[in-house]
This record gives sequence, C-alpha cells and structure tokens, in this order.
Amino acid sequence: MTVRTRLAPSPTGRMHIGSIAMALKNYAFAKKHGGQFILRIEDTDKTREIEDGINEIVRALKAYGLDWDEGPEKGGPYGPYIQSQRLEFYKKYAQKLVDEAKAYYCFATKEELEKMRQEALAVGKPPRYNGMYRDYPLEKAKKRIRAGEPYVIRLKVPKDQEIVFHDLIRGEIKFDSNEVSDQVLLKSDGYPTYHLAVVVDDHLMKITHVMRGEEWISSTPKHVLLYQAFGWPMPTWAHIPVFLNPDGKGKMSKRKGDVAALDFLEKGYLKEAVLNFLMILGWTPKDQREILNLDEYVREFNPADISHNSVIFDLKKLNWLNGVYIRKLSDAKLKKRLKPFIPSGFPEKKLDRVIPLIKERLVTLADFDKLTRFLWQQPSIDSKLLLKKATPELVKKQLKLTLEALESLDDFSDQAVEQVIRKLQEKHGWRKRQYFMMLRVAVTGEKATPPLFETMSVIGQEEVVSRLKEILNSKNL
Ligand code: GLU
Repeated sequence: MTVRTRLAPSPTGRMHIGSIAMALKNYAFAKKHGGQFILRIEDTDKTREIEDGINEIVRALKAYGLDWDEGPEKGGPYGPYIQSQRLEFYKKYAQKLVDEAKAYYCFATKEELEKMRQEALAVGKPPRYNGMYRDYPLEKAKKRIRAGEPYVIRLKVPKDQEIVFHDLIRGEIKFDSNEVSDQVLLKSDGYPTYHLAVVVDDHLMKITHVMRGEEWISSTPKHVLLYQAFGWPMPTWAHIPVFLNPDGKGKMSKRKGDVAALDFLEKGYLKEAVLNFLMILGWTPKDQREILNLDEYVREFNPADISHNSVIFDLKKLNWLNGVYIRKLSDAKLKKRLKPFIPSGFPEKKLDRVIPLIKERLVTLADFDKLTRFLWQQPSIDSKLLLKKATPELVKKQLKLTLEALESLDDFSDQAVEQVIRKLQEKHGWRKRQYFMMLRVAVTGEKATPPLFETMSVIGQEEVVSRLKEILNSKNL
C-alpha cells in the first residue's frame, strides 16, 4: 500500500498557521513512507470563499517549502483537485445512494426547518432535522423534481447503531447513530456538503491517512456512515489537537495575535524556525531534542506519538528557535535573508560590517531596523541617561576631550578608537562604567548596543564627531 495523505483547506480566509502545522504532518508522513502528499481545495461553500483564497493557500505552502505531489498547478492522476470542478462526481455518488435507498430526496422548506429547530429547542434538545422525508415515496419525489421543485439529498442514517472508529492519537471512538441526524449530502444548488465531498474525494484520491484538526472529530461518525453506505474501505484517522493562544487561554485566535501563516514570515521569522517550532508542538523525537530540520522530522515523525492534549502556541519558544536559526546562518546567507527588512535609506555599504555586530541580538529579522537605526540616523538623547552618575561639568569635559581626540584620528578603525578612548579614561582617572556608558548614550542614544568601539567605527568619524558636537552645543547639558 502506498501512503497517501492530503491537506484539504477551504479558501475561506487567510491560511492559518495551524494549517501549516497540519500540512507539515501530512507531508512528513507521506515522505517517510515514500508516498504522496496531495493538496485538495475544498471550495464548496461559495458564500464563505474569499477573493484570492486559493492563491493564498498555494503561496503559504510554497513559502514554507511544503510542496505537494498532486494538486492545483501540478495536476495528477485523480484530478481535478479543486472541489468546485468535481461537482459531477458528488452528484453521481449522491444519486447512487438514493438509488440504493441509503439516501433520500428532501423538500423541506426553510420555514419547516425553522419550525423543527424551534420545536427541538423548546424541549431542550439540539436542533436537528426530524426525518420528515425519510420514508417519502421515491416516485412522488421524482415527480416533484421533474416539476422543478428544489430539493436536497440527505443520508438515511441507520437507527440504533454503534459507530466505531479508530483514531491513531485517541484510540477507539464510539458514537451512537441515533445522535447523528440525516445529513444533507447534496445541496439544492447542486453543490455537495463538506461531508459528502470529503468522503468521495478521499476515496477517489486513494487517501490512506486522514490527519486533520480535532475540530473535525464530531464529523467523523458521519463520514464513517458514508464509507459504510458506499461499502468503501476507511482511511486511518488521526485528529490532531488544536493550538491554544500564547496566553494559554482558548483556541488560538486572531484577537490574541498573529494566526496567518504568511504573517510570521513577514514579521521576520525564518521558515525553518517556524517549521521546527510546529514540529515540536505536541510531539518530541525519541531523544527529546528540540532542534531538528525537515529531513530529520520526516525520518522520525510518527503521528501515533502526538500528544492528545491541546498545546500552547508558545511565542517565547518560537522566538528562541528563531534566534537559534538566525545564528546558524552564515553572514552571507543572513544578508540575503535580511534584504526585505532593510529600511530604505540604510547605507548598504555598511551592511557587511553591521551583520556580525547584530547577529547575536536579532530575535526576528525585523529587529534589524531597531537594532541599527542609530548607525545611520541621529538618535535623540535622553539627558538623564547622559548625566547618570556624573555632574554636567564632568560630562561636558569628557565630551569635549573625547571630541578633540577623535577628531584628530587619521584612522577610525575600532582599534584606533579604542586606544584613544582608553588612554583618555586612564589619563583622567574617569570611572570606566560612567564614562563608557555616557559615551555610548551620546553616540547611539541607547543603553545597550553592540561593542562600543566597533559601533563608533561603523558609524564613522564624521558622524560621531558631529553627534558629540551637537550635544555639547545643545542646552541638554
Ligand atoms: N475543508 C476542511 C478544512 O477547511 C477540511 C477538513 C478535513 O481535513 O477533512 O479544514
């Protein structure tokens, strides 16, 4: 048996980071077993589709490097891979179930359905269809259809059956068929519902393993009933726990931070760091290590080892991992990755010297700007910081002597700057901490920067001198 997995997103919104996590698992499991990973677009709910929705899915998967073997753009032996282009299949299979008396036509009107709902609610039951057309004579139904009356096709859910299925993560799961209402399979507009389409497609596309979010687990009994009605073999199911918000409260949601997969990349997370993070959310390799790349994951991942508890989307861990991956890059590679994050106006010729200076301090690539702006733009200076542990007279004297010393340098390399500054400090017996901190603040506006002498050298003689002059001339002192 060839392992075939799939991701089946609906183009109803931005691609969620949880979908990338799901894609990753399906991708890895297929690759591990030399099988195929299929992308199928589930666009049967036209009312909820967003513009450019399919492109968003394609872009996000490509950006994370999770390429599919069959699907949109690629085609494959079981296409088309976009459900709205497969309507004839769903019609055919819904019809087959009607012909075998496993499904039936239903003509219930909106008003009738609403009445059922109200009646159920009145006796404290969940609203559901009451089966009013379950035993309606087929000939009569066909006549009404020929006369042009709108209809849906519903599954005739068998009574008093125990529905059992096995989940790789949760083990055996049982449902009572009396709790499942007669599902709509085909809507009056000729579109299938999710339940019919997902089962028909997973079958026709020869999907062997369905790994999807646990929010679908309550739909699985309906799918099991459909597989039984068709007499098809069932795939293996694995329902993956959802992510909780970084604060640990509730299912991960837009209101509490980023959820769109592409936004993480735009905010300066490296795709390999995000993927690594998603790998270890709810799963760890046998040796418990936390850093692993895609190839290692493919080799070691086993869905049966996924924890069945929900996991917190822990941004601190993502930030840590991102730093690890940034520092793994060579300076040349980091330079390339930083390109989109370099603000216009940044003096490009300084880049090669700047990168090693800030590499240790980047959490995301987007930090480049805040860590380097003082290198090319005059910072504003907080005079309280400047005067910390010193009198204005002392600071003025220090600035004046430093300015003179720096102005006279022919060579503004970090060594030359260091030498002259240390000499001054020693000669006048200034306290190192106070003097160096004062100088750091005067030149950069910041308390924490990369090493001071190197920083000054990168800023350049002319600019450093002019910054010091400006402070001496200002009323700040
Ligand atoms: N179309 C569903 C979704 O958007 C797919 C669920 C499944 O994988 O069966 O998540």
